[in-house]
Amino acid sequence: MSELHQRIAAAVDAIPLFDTHEHFYDEKTRLSAKREIDVFYFLHYVECDIKSAGLPEETGEFAGGTLSTEEKRRRFLKYWPFVEHTGYGRAFKIMANDLFGVSEIGEATYDLLNERASSFAKPGYYTPLLRERANITRALRIVWAGQDTLCDLDHLFPVPVFDNFAGPTSRADVRKLERETDTRIHSLKDLETALDAVFDKRQNQGMVAVKCFLAYRRSLDFAHTSAAAAETVFQRVVCALPPSPLGAEETKPLQDYMVHQIVQRAVERKLPINIHTGYQNSNDNVFANGKPEPLINLILGYPTARFVLLHCGWPYTDQVLAFAKMFPNVFPDMAWAHILAPGMARRLLHDLIDTVPANKILGFGGDYNFAEGSYAHAKLARRGISRVLTDRIEEGTFTEEQAIALAKRIMHDNASALYGFPQLAG
Ligand SMILES: [Zn+2]
Repeated sequence: MSELHQRIAAAVDAIPLFDTHEHFYDEKTRLSAKREIDVFYFLHYVECDIKSAGLPEETGEFAGGTLSTEEKRRRFLKYWPFVEHTGYGRAFKIMANDLFGVSEIGEATYDLLNERASSFAKPGYYTPLLRERANITRALRIVWAGQDTLCDLDHLFPVPVFDNFAGPTSRADVRKLERETDTRIHSLKDLETALDAVFDKRQNQGMVAVKCFLAYRRSLDFAHTSAAAAETVFQRVVCALPPSPLGAEETKPLQDYMVHQIVQRAVERKLPINIHTGYQNSNDNVFANGKPEPLINLILGYPTARFVLLHCGWPYTDQVLAFAKMFPNVFPDMAWAHILAPGMARRLLHDLIDTVPANKILGFGGDYNFAEGSYAHAKLARRGISRVLTDRIEEGTFTEEQAIALAKRIMHDNASALYGFPQLAG
């Protein structure tokens, strides 16, 4: 590492991160988890890479699942060498090394790793882990539809999902919405009223943005649709008896209409709209559904909305760059990127610096189910960011001072401003 690189790395380490995207719970919920916490709990994304490496499908899940501990251990050790160098694998190694004190993962150290991973979480551990070691000031937590926020409004702030309002395909789905909102939903108008009630409730719970997760199920082509067309579909939905709910294609007019309703409410309440774009987390999905390009309908239709395109749409990052360059209402968010594909994240950051105004780039979201993973992801992100900035100083794009000012923006201040929190001092 050159002296310049060392200086930049130290400066980047000292800058707090605003973490735009997480899934982990507040500490109290985490510590009261009923499930067994062992080393497999911390695999998370690594499990996807292990499946991709060839783990037979009938094996079931490592975390949870029905395999004996001995069998899980045998299979994990067999596949680990194939996945230890991916971004996911590297983040797991950082957890093992820095948090659990195990530098080499293998047969000889497995039991120690498992023991230390199992006993790592203790009352009061979030603040030293997140604020001191990871240097993360705040994180936004995705809250699934109908669930408690599980945010402490100190480390974690809620970003609820409203997709259940966009996606009812059967009577059962509508009944579920009725139970969630304690209302009767007989018409499209009732559905919109129920949506208002959930917006109110979520806002009282500290909601700072809205999340749209629909790219896991369908394309992002949310067409302008009339209420009449949506109402017709809604009436068919409430008559659809299980086991034959209406298909995604059939219900598209209702979904599209309701997505516009959700966006309109977010605009009225001045809440950014976080949209999953690109690759999905699984071993079985249609990633073309995450193509950002069809979002043009929403982007043109709502100039005062603030659309955050999560994960920068990888592998369609160029589309997000083009949107963020052209439209003031689009913000590119690198959540997940530094572990999903660390080299891509560095190239992407180069492209973002070249293409997108510096006040819009959101440089980090941990995207983990546990705070320990976010610690590891933050470390990888800092490495990537400091390398890119060092390269750019050497190339003459900017001075060292300008590089550090840029780092403060992309690591903290842009996101903090977007979600209504304070800027870093100085
Ligand atoms: Zn996520």
